[in-house]
Amino acid sequence: MSQQGYVAAPPYSQAQPGMGGYQGGFGPGTTQPLYGHYGGPPQAFNAPPTGEVLPFRLLSFSCSPRPMHPPTSTVPQQHFQAPPPPAMGQPQMPPSPQSPQMPPQMSPPQSPPASMPMAGPPMPGSPIAGQPMAGPPMAGPPMAGQQMAGPPMAGQQMAGPPMAGQQMAGPPMAGMGRPFPGPPPPGAGGFQQPAPGAAGPTGYPQQPGQFGGQHMAGPQPGMPGAFPSGPGAMAGPPQKKLDPDSIPSITQVIEDDKVKQGGQVFTTNIRGQVPPLVTTDFTVQDQGNASPRFIRCTTYSLPCTADLAKQCQVPLAAIIKPFANLPKNETSLYVVNHGETGPIRCNRCKAYMCPFMQFIDGGRRYQCGFCNCVNEVPVFYFQHLDHMGRRVDFYERPELSLGSYECLATLDYCKNNKAPNPPAYIFMIDVSYNNIKSGLVKLICDELKTLLEKLPREEGAESSAIKVGFVTYNKVLHFYNVKSALAQPQMMVVSDTAEMFVPLLDGFLVNYQDSKAVIYNLLDQIPDMFADTNESETVFAPVIQAGVEALKAAECSGKLFIFQSSMPTAEAPGKLKNRDDKKLINTDKEKTLFQPQKGVYEQLVKDCVASGCCVDLFLFPSQYVDLATMANVPCHTGGSVYKYNNFQVETDGEHFLRDLRKDIQKNIGFDAIMRVRTSTGFRATEFFGGIYMNNTTDIEMAAVDCDKAVTVEFKHDDAMCLLQCSLLNKCALLYTTISGQRRLRIHNLSLNCSSQLLDLYKSCETDSLINFFAKSAYRAILNQPIKNVREILINQTAHMLACYRKNCASPSAASQLILPDAMKVFPVYMNSLMKTAPLVGNTELSTDDRAHQRLSVTAMGVEDTQLLLYPRLIPLHNMDVGSEALPAPVRCSEERLTDAGMFLLENGHSLFLWLGQACSPDLIQSIFNLPSLAHLQGNMAALPELDNPLSKKVQSIISGLLEKRPNSMKLQIVRQRDKPEILFRQFLVEDKGLYAGASYMDFLCYVHREIRQLLT
Ligand SMILES: [Zn+2]
Repeated sequence: MSQQGYVAAPPYSQAQPGMGGYQGGFGPGTTQPLYGHYGGPPQAFNAPPTGEVLPFRLLSFSCSPRPMHPPTSTVPQQHFQAPPPPAMGQPQMPPSPQSPQMPPQMSPPQSPPASMPMAGPPMPGSPIAGQPMAGPPMAGPPMAGQQMAGPPMAGQQMAGPPMAGQQMAGPPMAGMGRPFPGPPPPGAGGFQQPAPGAAGPTGYPQQPGQFGGQHMAGPQPGMPGAFPSGPGAMAGPPQKKLDPDSIPSITQVIEDDKVKQGGQVFTTNIRGQVPPLVTTDFTVQDQGNASPRFIRCTTYSLPCTADLAKQCQVPLAAIIKPFANLPKNETSLYVVNHGETGPIRCNRCKAYMCPFMQFIDGGRRYQCGFCNCVNEVPVFYFQHLDHMGRRVDFYERPELSLGSYECLATLDYCKNNKAPNPPAYIFMIDVSYNNIKSGLVKLICDELKTLLEKLPREEGAESSAIKVGFVTYNKVLHFYNVKSALAQPQMMVVSDTAEMFVPLLDGFLVNYQDSKAVIYNLLDQIPDMFADTNESETVFAPVIQAGVEALKAAECSGKLFIFQSSMPTAEAPGKLKNRDDKKLINTDKEKTLFQPQKGVYEQLVKDCVASGCCVDLFLFPSQYVDLATMANVPCHTGGSVYKYNNFQVETDGEHFLRDLRKDIQKNIGFDAIMRVRTSTGFRATEFFGGIYMNNTTDIEMAAVDCDKAVTVEFKHDDAMCLLQCSLLNKCALLYTTISGQRRLRIHNLSLNCSSQLLDLYKSCETDSLINFFAKSAYRAILNQPIKNVREILINQTAHMLACYRKNCASPSAASQLILPDAMKVFPVYMNSLMKTAPLVGNTELSTDDRAHQRLSVTAMGVEDTQLLLYPRLIPLHNMDVGSEALPAPVRCSEERLTDAGMFLLENGHSLFLWLGQACSPDLIQSIFNLPSLAHLQGNMAALPELDNPLSKKVQSIISGLLEKRPNSMKLQIVRQRDKPEILFRQFLVEDKGLYAGASYMDFLCYVHREIRQLLT
C-alpha cells in the first residue's frame, strides 16, 4: 500500500509537531545524491507487443550521419563540449542505462573512426555551411541504389496532414559512404572533433559508447557508396541546404494545437485525456477530474508495470499548481462545509471524499478508490443511490462530482487546535548607502502608499484582513510602531543582531486601513531619516529571523518582503563572503558554487516553514552576492527571488515596481501542507518545488501562490505490481487563506494504465516532460559534475526515443529518425535546456545569475518552463495593425530574422525588441518618433507612446505580455550587429549556443546517431 504510515489523527498536528525536531537531510535536494531515474541495470529492449497496430500519427524523418570531418588538429569551435568520459565506476554515476557508459554491446564499434571522422556542424559563413546536411532535397527524385528512399518513406506513414517537409526520409547527406574523406572543410567542429590521426579526440580517452565516441563511427552498413556525392561534392558549389522547415517545429506544433483546440471547452470527464497545450487558450469544465491548470502530467497513460516504465525511461510525473489562477469564465472552486465533522476521509488511507469513491450497499458504505478499503458512510452523510448506483445528491455535492473543490477544515486541522489569525506582510527595507543613493528606498516607500490599498482580500470582503508591519535595516534593525492611536510612528532599534528579538508586539503588525495615517507618515519619513547614511554594510539572516519572530509572536503566518542591495558582510549570524571562483567551472567542484552555505540559513528555513513564514527577496546587487545562499530561504518557503543588477530608478524602476505589484496582489495560501496520494501500487518518490520536506510524504510550504508548481515523480511500488486499469492521483492541500480560514483544497485526477508502450507515447505531454527534466537536471547539478548531467539528459532522450522506435513504430530504414507525434519537438527543448546558463560551464556567465535561474525553475509550472526553453519570437514589422490577434511567432533562429524586420522576443524573464539594420525610417518613426535607427539611444526603458496605429499595436502587445507573465520583464532594445545583440542571440535556441551547445539540427542528428547505436 502506498499510503502506509499516514496516521489517522488530524494531519496538522501530525505533520508539524512543533516543527522543532528537524533532523538529517535538508530538504529533498540532498537526500537524493545521484541523478538518474532508474537505478537498475541496463534494460534490454523488449520485443514490441504482438499484434500491435499503429492507429496514430507517426512522425518520422531521416537524419543520416553527416559526412565526416577529416582529421584536423585545429578545432576552432566545438558545438558540444564533449566531456571527458567518466571512468567506469566513477563514484558519482549510478550504474543506470542512461549513464554515460553505454554497455559496449549496445554500441558496437563500427568502422575505425579515424578513417571516417564525423563532420562537424556547419559554421555560419564557412564555405561548407549547410553542406553536411545537404544532398538532394527530400522532394527530389530518388537516386539509383539509394536504399533509404524506398518505401516506406517516413511521412508516408503519417495519418495526419503531413507538415511541410516532414518526409525527411530523403537521401542521405553528401558524402555519406565515401570511402575517403574529402579535404578538411574549415570551420566548426562537431559534437566531437577527432584528433589528428587518432581514434578519438585529444585530451581524453576514447571509450566505446561514450558521448563523442560511438558516433564517430563510419557509415552504416548497407549504405556504402550509395550516394553520388563523393569527395568532389565537397569542393563543388554548396548543395541545397536541408530545409530547416523540414525538422519538427515548436511554433508549428503550437499553432496546430491552437487551430485544433483553441477557444474550445475541455471537459474533464474522460480518464487519461490529454489536455490542449499550455500555449493554447481554452476553457475548462470540471466534470470529475482536476483542470489541467492545476495538474498536468508527463503522460496520461501510465505503464502498468515497473518493467515497462524502466524500459521506456519516460519519467512519470505530475506538475501540480494548486493555486493556479483561473480565467474569469471558469468557476472558482466550491467550498464544502461538513461542519464539526470536517472532511470525510477513508479510514485507512485518509483520502478525502472525491468522485473516485464508489458507493455501495444502498449508499451505506463506500469503497475507497485509492486503497479499496470499504468505509461506513457517516449517518449525516447518508444518501440513497439511483439506478446507476450513483448518489441522488451527486450534482449537489462538489466533492462527489468535481475534480477540484475546497473544504472548510475543523480545528483538528489547525496548529495547536486553534483557528489561525489572518496572515501578515512585513516590509523589510535595506536602508544602507547603496539603496538610499539609488533612490530605491524612496521608490519603495512611495509605491507602498498606493500598493497597500490593493492587498489581496477574500472575495466579497470590503478590505483585506492581512496585517502589515515595517522594518528598516543596515547593520542594525529598526522596528516601527504604527499603531493607529499614535500621532507619529515610533522607531525601536535592535543592534544586537546575534540574539534577534522583536522589541514591540503591540503596534508592530497592524491593519492597514486602521493605521493608514501613521503608515503614510512613516513612509514619508523613511527616505529622509536615512538620507545622510554612510553605512554600507548590511545584515541579512537576522532580518529574516526578526520577521519570523514577529510572526510567531503574533501567532500568524505571513510573508516577508526583503529589499536588499548587497551581500551581508556585517558581523552577524549569516555573514557571507565572496566565494565566487571561476576556476571551479568545468571541474568536479563546480557544484559547490550552487550549494548554499550551511548552518544559519538551514536553520532559518526550518524556522520559517514551521511558522508559515514565506520570504520574498528583491535583490539589487552591483556585484556577486552569493545568491545560492541568500536565495536559499526564499526558495524553500514558497517565496520568489527577484534580481535587478546595477539597479537604476530611471531604467529599472518601473520593471521592479511591476514585479512588486504583481507579487503583493498574488492569489496565495499560507502555512500549507500538501499530500499526494495515488492508488495502490504506485507512489510519489521525488518532489521539486519551493517546498520543504521533513519526511518522505508531507510537502510543506510556508506559502504557495498562483504561479508556484510542485513537480512530483511517481514510481511503481514494486516490479511485479500490475496496476488496475486506472490510476488515481490526488493532491490535498491544507492551508490558511488570506483571511485566516483553514481550508483543504483537493485536486483529483485519474489516468489510464496500459500494458502497451504505444499508449504511453501517444499520451505524452512534451511540455510537462521538459518541466520535469529541467527541474531534475537543475537539482542534479548540486551533487554531480555538470557534464555528467548533460550526458544523462542526452542519453535519456535517445533512450526514450529508441524505445519508441523499437516497440511502437512500424519498421523503417535505420536512417529514418522516427519520433512519436506527441514528442516530436522534445529534442528541441532538451537541446535548449542543455544550453541554459546553469548547465553551461562558462566563465563569462555570472555565478549568481546561474544560481538564480537554477532556483527559479524549481518552482515553475509547465507554461513557464515551456516559454523559458522556447522563447516567443514575434515579427512586428509586417503585422496587420487592425487585427486583435498577436502575430504568429516564428522559430527561434537567426534565419528567421530579416534585415528590414522588427521582432519581439520574450521568454518570461527577458524581453527584447530587435531591429534589423535595414529597418525602414517609417517604421522607426512610428515606433520611436526618431528619423532613423542611428538616432536611437541605447538605454530606453520603455517605448514612447505615440499616436499611430503601429505604435499602439506594439504597445498593446508588450503590455499584454507583461500582464500575462508571472514576472515583469525589462524591455531591451537591440539593433542588429550592435554589441548588445549578443544578449538577444542567446535566446535563439535553435541556433548553435553562444557559449556551448549544438544547433537544433545538429543535436537532432546526434540524437539520431545515439538512437541508432542503441538499436544495433
Ligand atoms: Zn483509502
